[in-house]
Amino acid sequence: MSKLAILGGGLTGLTLGSLIKGCEVEVLERERRCGGLCRSNMIGGFTFDIGGGHIIYSRDESALNFMRGQLEGNIVQLRRNTKVFYKGRYVKYPFENGLSDLPLQDNYECLLTYIQTRIRAALGRNSQPENFKEWIYYTFGEGIAEKYMIPYNEKVWNYDLSKMGIGWIADRVPQPPLEDIVKSSLGIGSEGYTHQLNFNYPRVGGIQALIESLRQKVEGDVTCNYNVGGIRNEDGKWILSDGSGNREKQFDILVSTIPPYELVKALSEVPSDVREAVGNLRYNSLITVMVGVDKPKLNDFSWAYFPQREDGFFNRLNFTSNYSSHVSPKGKSLVIAEITYNRGDEVDGMKDDELLEHTVDCLSRNEIVEREDVCMTGVGRIEYAYIVHDQDYEDNRNTMLHYLNSIGITPCGRFAEFEYLNMDACIKRAMRLAEQINNKNDTN
Ligand SMILES: Cc1cc2nc3c(=O)[nH]c(=O)nc-3n(C[C@H](O)[C@H](O)[C@H](O)COP(=O)(O)OP(=O)(O)OC[C@H]3O[C@@H](n4cnc5c(N)ncnc54)[C@H](O)[C@@H]3O)c2cc1C
Repeated sequence: MSKLAILGGGLTGLTLGSLIKGCEVEVLERERRCGGLCRSNMIGGFTFDIGGGHIIYSRDESALNFMRGQLEGNIVQLRRNTKVFYKGRYVKYPFENGLSDLPLQDNYECLLTYIQTRIRAALGRNSQPENFKEWIYYTFGEGIAEKYMIPYNEKVWNYDLSKMGIGWIADRVPQPPLEDIVKSSLGIGSEGYTHQLNFNYPRVGGIQALIESLRQKVEGDVTCNYNVGGIRNEDGKWILSDGSGNREKQFDILVSTIPPYELVKALSEVPSDVREAVGNLRYNSLITVMVGVDKPKLNDFSWAYFPQREDGFFNRLNFTSNYSSHVSPKGKSLVIAEITYNRGDEVDGMKDDELLEHTVDCLSRNEIVEREDVCMTGVGRIEYAYIVHDQDYEDNRNTMLHYLNSIGITPCGRFAEFEYLNMDACIKRAMRLAEQINNKNDTN
């Protein structure tokens, strides 16, 4: 029987491990717990999703059913009630569908410039966008662009939007129909894109519940505290070792769900152009700040976006105790703030207590939480959170993928394939790969 190593025990690695048949499987995870971006920490009775707010949704039935199936009865069904915080008020999300919640002058500017941009496009006077910033202006007009889309995306991506490509965005954010914008401006209800209008979340255990269920289903070993630090090929066999060069293990097949930086570090003899391409793949890190509050309810929101810098470094607040009362002790509620950062920037330099003070200060200034009600706090740091589509993205990614293919390592998952994949897409990729490996095993 051939032996398969799956590097990384996040959602992708465990999904793949749970679907492999007729092969000896071992999942190797660096941390003491599996889950990657889908980990949840228990702190003082609060369930803190340290990779930020995670909800279960998909346009793909098979991925959605797979995730729901893992949770069996441990699941709640919810409807999105999401807001954008703008000039001290809450605007319905998507922003373009909530224009009537804006101050009248802002509403007028958004409507007028949206119509103007559509007229320019109809007359063929709007040149095709070449970068993300231009795409925002082209799609939404100056009003929505400058009041929301640009400041919000500058926070999330922490990068010059005019240096980002557009291939990844078009499917995610469709151009709103003119009819919807007019309705939205006048206050006639419209939903905008609806693919995550209804979503699921685990009743108990936070998003990690998905991981725990998958881990049980892996027919093989799941080895934590194993930092894959050495990889070499000897006579067709893959020899792995941990960071200290010890605990050698031998495998026939290698699938990597770990970030390419980690993989390249572990591999011996990587050509310099590949190392350079991988080093130039741009990513963002994430800090999450958990604030437990001694109040049964703060609001009815699922989550809220914070585009303006003056309202906080965070780009989003997740009110996860509104998903399930089990994520906080009885009578208390939970907020999780998400802050994007990069090594060496202002946020990176902040210590945990400074991040907490900043977050609590912004929450109390904006009347979301009263300082004296804060009863529990926590900070999470995730090095690899977002893939950034800069303009060299395609070339660097292709160089990396081509090299892995040439040496016989299969990448699978968000960072491993270096693609903006959500949980459903990671599951689909793992399903597809499991089928290929299982079919190969059947024919051997
Ligand atoms: C803020 C945020 C919010 C999100 N919200 C949602 C959402 O609401 N819904 C949704 O569908 N998706 C969401 N996602 C996306 C989702 O988190 C990912 O698609 C998914 O978790 C990726 O899983 P993965 O296993 O591919 O990667 P990861 O979770 O990154 O797992 C990789 C694993 O490899 C391990 N590893 C790394 N290096 C090594 C090494 N050298 N040796 C051994 N192990 C190693 C890591 O510890 C980790 O466990 C969100 C992402 C972010 C950043």
